[in-house]
Amino acid sequence: MTFQDTELIEKILQLKRQRNAVILAHNYQLGEVQDIADFVGDSLELSQKAAETDAEVIVFCGVRFMAETASILCPDKVVLLPDIQAGCPMADMVTAEKLRQRKRELPDATVVCYVNSSAEVKAESDICCTSANAVKVVESLKSKEVLFVPDQYLGHYTSTKTNKKMVLWPGFCPFHVRIQPEDIARLKREYPRAKAIVHPECRPEVIALADEVLSTGGMCRFARKTEAEEIIVGTEIGMIYRLRKENPGKQFIPASEQAICPSMKLTALERILWALKEMAFEVKVPEAIRLRAKVAVDKMLRVA
Ligand code: SF4
Repeated sequence: MTFQDTELIEKILQLKRQRNAVILAHNYQLGEVQDIADFVGDSLELSQKAAETDAEVIVFCGVRFMAETASILCPDKVVLLPDIQAGCPMADMVTAEKLRQRKRELPDATVVCYVNSSAEVKAESDICCTSANAVKVVESLKSKEVLFVPDQYLGHYTSTKTNKKMVLWPGFCPFHVRIQPEDIARLKREYPRAKAIVHPECRPEVIALADEVLSTGGMCRFARKTEAEEIIVGTEIGMIYRLRKENPGKQFIPASEQAICPSMKLTALERILWALKEMAFEVKVPEAIRLRAKVAVDKMLRVA
């Protein structure tokens, strides 16, 4: 760490105390951001932390829908997204208007939306889910038919674990789909004793070759418990930093160096300091949308 980094970190910590702020970071964030965060986790864990914090300001080091989820759960807190450009291309693959159209075509379906979606889309949905609890959420529903948005691959994986009729929105994560089955097959030949863990946003052909299908939070728990010393990791590359940090005796092999989400790399230490100084960019969901979206998020948190 350079002298400038140490100075920067001190300034962030000082300002964080003055503002009574908490820094939440997703598992895909840069290592330097994970190191300075009060809590690092997956979408579900971060939503739960946001809901229970007594800080007045939440600096959300992640992407826009995550900051929106925090705003939905904590309307009295100031939620800051250090880089306003940090969006999620998958979340942008469904709009509230298009979802309303599809709902008219499927009047009996319960709408389950992956947390990777805008507040407007959540407001149009019956219940939310994350990759950690999608199966549990879908199984908790009374209806036989489910419209799952926006990730077709998480939806497909969930459909293999439940007996619901699932209609899948054709969205996907452009970075998880870069992980190819050939990557897993080649690494399994190179590391015959390794366990392969993959995220459910991966293609079904990749999931078919995995030993475990896990959310990023699930990957952290698996890595701690497993006796395997070599682990092939099929998710966004930022995950490797945390896994290596927490398990120095184990080897983590990225399934693909191509699985990099540029939005997740926009938040650097300088941006966090700037966000705390300027109190920007504030993410605030309009009240009418927030109240409807909160119903879907709260239902998920009760199931999770
Ligand atoms: S990794 Fe994929 S799903 Fe996650 S924020 Fe980036 S684009 Fe969205």
